[in-house]
Amino acid sequence: MKKSRKCVACGVFKPQDELIRITKESKSGNIVIQPDSKTFGRSVYLCYNENCINTVLKKGINKPLKVNISREDLKGLLDGQLKS
Ligand SMILES: [Zn+2]
Repeated sequence: MKKSRKCVACGVFKPQDELIRITKESKSGNIVIQPDSKTFGRSVYLCYNENCINTVLKKGINKPLKVNISREDLKGLLDGQLKS
């Protein structure tokens, strides 16, 4: 069975592979979008849709990830995620 994760924006549970994973790497403290399996750290998950991305850009991820990333930097990281 696939693991379900909760979207940090809308609160809906979805299979992990249907969500964008945002990880704060524990060693470097870097924010990594869709990290590989070797990246460990605190993570939040987010739906692949504009609404949820916009919600997260408004709310920020600083609290759940215990980071201090600006809205612009977060937007830059997430910008590529909707284009396919
Ligand atoms: Zn969502």
